[in-house]
Amino acid sequence: MAPVFSSPQLFYPSLPLSRRPRWPRMDSSVPHHRTDQSKTKLIVLMGATGSGKSRLSIDLAGHFPHSQIVNSDKMQLFNGLDITTNKIPIHERKGVPHFLLGEFDSIEADVAASQFRSVAGTTIADIASRGNLPLLVGGSNTFIHALLVETFDPEEDVFAESGSASPVLRYDCCFVWVDMAWSVLSEYLGKRVDEMLDSGMFEELAQFYDPTKAGVMVGLRKAIGVPEFDAYFRKFPPWESPENGVVPDKDSDPIRREAYEEAVKEIKDNTYRLAKRQIGKILRLKEAGWDLTRLDATATFQALMEKKKRQPSSSPSAAAELEWRWIWEREVVEPSVKIVKRFLEE
Ligand code: ATP
Repeated sequence: MAPVFSSPQLFYPSLPLSRRPRWPRMDSSVPHHRTDQSKTKLIVLMGATGSGKSRLSIDLAGHFPHSQIVNSDKMQLFNGLDITTNKIPIHERKGVPHFLLGEFDSIEADVAASQFRSVAGTTIADIASRGNLPLLVGGSNTFIHALLVETFDPEEDVFAESGSASPVLRYDCCFVWVDMAWSVLSEYLGKRVDEMLDSGMFEELAQFYDPTKAGVMVGLRKAIGVPEFDAYFRKFPPWESPENGVVPDKDSDPIRREAYEEAVKEIKDNTYRLAKRQIGKILRLKEAGWDLTRLDATATFQALMEKKKRQPSSSPSAAAELEWRWIWEREVVEPSVKIVKRFLEE
């Protein structure tokens, strides 16, 4: 497969040179993996927000029927704000069991990395003890790191400038990293925010809004969308309607509309920042010796956005739908299946 961009600089123009990727080619070939029979086998799907990890996890589960998914997205651990945090909807899970997805009820306290290590560690052990295959899926790299390293020190920030992650892991891991050109990911992320708003994110956040908690930044209140719209709702509070519950308003005057657009812009900017930080952390883990295989989803997402441009309605043509799915299958799903198959046979 020909690389879409010849220089890593085009992928990560905003990252400092020292953090830019060093791979010589797209890693779609099946890598050699050293296995350790004494450790639990774990598939780890990594990638920035919006890169298609959840979709890939379900596609992989179709090829490995005993797969069970363990969430490692910090915000998706909590119960609530399903649209805002982008939880995979139940109908898209295709019956594949998911763990730690919306299981934390306390939305007003942070989950510590050591707590995640303990809870996710028990979940993975349970899945494996029943003869199933655990797939860790989510974008929180500090949690992924805390869970996977053989020895975890909660006091140490391995992602700080002077820090470094240990390459010694407590599982036998097969890492798949879904990535794409930054220009494509950023365009997609902006469109995804618009789609989330069309799906009811604004209304969901109005329901969640609590004037006594606005400005409090713990737990689910850190989710992108909450602080940005808290500021909006403080100025333009949603109102209670006996028939419709909490109703937010963004259109009744131009000042509101402008403030709404400003909040949406902040959400988009914060999403881009999150994705950049996540990619930066993944690169740090790769540099530290984690055996990550990078798959390039650029062409898929280009086709997906092309489809949306040609067919902005919710009923895309069958041909356009087929086209991007076909590219996704060829460029991401098939190589991942090969990688996992080989890993499981070792
Ligand atoms: P950090 O140390 O910065 O918290 P991390 O790797 O532990 O990084 P990330 O998953 O990168 O965790 O999340 C960092 C922040 O990004 C969260 O605190 C939250 O503000 C936002 N965020 C992450 N995931 C989501 C999500 N699914 N929905 C909304 N916001 C999110």
